Amino acid sequence: MKPKREPRPRRCCECRRWYRPGPSAAKAQKTCGKRCRLRRRAKHEAARREADLPAARRRERARKRRQRERQTGAGPPMSRAGLSAQSSAAIEEIVEKLGHAQRMSRAGLRRQLRRLALGELARGAAEPGA
Ligand SMILES: [Zn+2]
Repeated sequence: MKPKREPRPRRCCECRRWYRPGPSAAKAQKTCGKRCRLRRRAKHEAARREADLPAARRRERARKRRQRERQTGAGPPMSRAGLSAQSSAAIEEIVEKLGHAQRMSRAGLRRQLRRLALGELARGAAEPGA
């Protein structure tokens, strides 16, 4: 591997000031900082929108729809092909518990999941062939 040299100073394509790119972005960085980066992105997005307005409107509608679905929890139901009703119920239960996990300690979460797993095993033994 070549020894990493100090990145050469470059000209910001937005404000034309000189800057030193970060070592991890030495070849790709085009702007001096966050302000110019956001300005450059906005210009690119505006150009992209103008180049194909219908596609841009489709993208905007899709983004709004996804945001709406995220907030209301609506949207098409997830496919559960290949999962038995029992395991899919167990998964739903675990997802529900994980929703509380942020408020719970790791030990508490572990206890909950262990209890769930043991419950599954007991149910599985009680109904053979399920
Ligand atoms: Zn700049």
